[in-house]
Amino acid sequence: QDQQKYTGIVEDCCCDYETVESINEEVLYPLLQKLVTTPFFRYFKVKLWCDCPFWPDDGMCRLRDCSVCECPENEFPEPFRKPLHRGLKSDNPVCQEGKPQSTVDRTLDSRAFRGWIETDNPWTNDDETDNGEMTYVNLQLNPERYTGYSGPSARRIWDAVYSENCPKYSSGEICQEKKVLYKLISGLHSSISVHIAADYLLDEANNLWGQNLELLYNRVLKYPDRVQNLYFTFLFVLRAVTKATDYLEQAEYDTGNKVEDSKTQFLMKQLLSNPKLQAACPLPFDEAKLWQGQSGPQLKQQTQKQFRNISALMDCVGCEKCRLWGKLQVLGLGTALKILFSVDGHNHPDQPVQLQRNEVIALLNLLNRLSESVKLVHEKGPSIEKILEGG
Ligand code: FAD
Repeated sequence: QDQQKYTGIVEDCCCDYETVESINEEVLYPLLQKLVTTPFFRYFKVKLWCDCPFWPDDGMCRLRDCSVCECPENEFPEPFRKPLHRGLKSDNPVCQEGKPQSTVDRTLDSRAFRGWIETDNPWTNDDETDNGEMTYVNLQLNPERYTGYSGPSARRIWDAVYSENCPKYSSGEICQEKKVLYKLISGLHSSISVHIAADYLLDEANNLWGQNLELLYNRVLKYPDRVQNLYFTFLFVLRAVTKATDYLEQAEYDTGNKVEDSKTQFLMKQLLSNPKLQAACPLPFDEAKLWQGQSGPQLKQQTQKQFRNISALMDCVGCEKCRLWGKLQVLGLGTALKILFSVDGHNHPDQPVQLQRNEVIALLNLLNRLSESVKLVHEKGPSIEKILEGG
């Protein structure tokens, strides 16, 4: 099968692979890379305390010491404060949080954000309006990459996500509504794996980081459906962003830094009303086709419930940095779902969508992550077998 080069229309979407790759490389990737470094987009509000509702016996999640996030600065164990300099036992089987590469750096400034509403996202489990246990995290200091999180805890999360909340559909399934959630999660999973492979701890003793192409191949490129789902998720999220253009163009990206904030506004405009993008792929995904049948509303409710469960599972991720990016990207997907399919209680298509700041931050950071993944898959995909054979 053709796993090296993908051609034709991305399944259930409206654009072909080549177009996705060219708009990504020419427009989306360069703009998003700049956008996510702006003050508005680099601080994410998140409840990082691991509060797993599913496995109360989960040692990994229950051990408060394991959760670096909740400790005030002066209580942090010294090795956590100076990650990677001291020997923390990296093969500690109980507390994978203890791995220095999995800790979250909370250095941030306290600039206020203004002009945004506070609403809860009905697609996610967290109450986004509850500021009680939320902290701000500087995403630029905490890149999504290899953390060492693996084994039964990680496996249990993925198993629960797929087996209970979005089972893989059978190959003959034609009902798009039944496929959409699985494809979105699988696409996100591919993207997480691509980021692990893109920034991997190659040599722990010398703290050497770099690409692990074997991992990229074995976890993603070897499986055409995982690559296809990555492209699908990318187009789905892109459609959500373009659908919310009016809202996003008028929003205030105010952090108190005039120069930086006008740059954010300018980049957003370039992204949202980009002629190249509009000409090449005007409708990345056609959400109007979904939920039209008699069972549409019921299917939508069910999908929302499943997605909320997946969102709740993020509280069981036993590695703080993985939890941070898991929560951010699930909120980003929840925001895309809210934009495209509206929400419980506000199901009127003519009612303009209301987004809160954190949702917009999650949405654009998710799009950037997917854009990075598509770029790497496109760059390495066609030649990877040769590279691996040669190496
Ligand atoms: P896993 O990636 O754990 O996959 C488990 C099973 O799921 C596979 O055996 C396969 O059957 C199926 N599967 C795999 N990929 C797909 C796909 N794309 N679509 C459909 N099915 C698939 N680790 C880090 O190092 N850094 C991180 O930032 C990080 N973030 C994470 C975030 C979350 C929410 C979770 C649950 C885990 C995270 N992990 C992270 C752990 C990482 O995802 C893997 O679980 C871990 O590296 C072990 O990988 P594995 O080879 O056992 O396969």
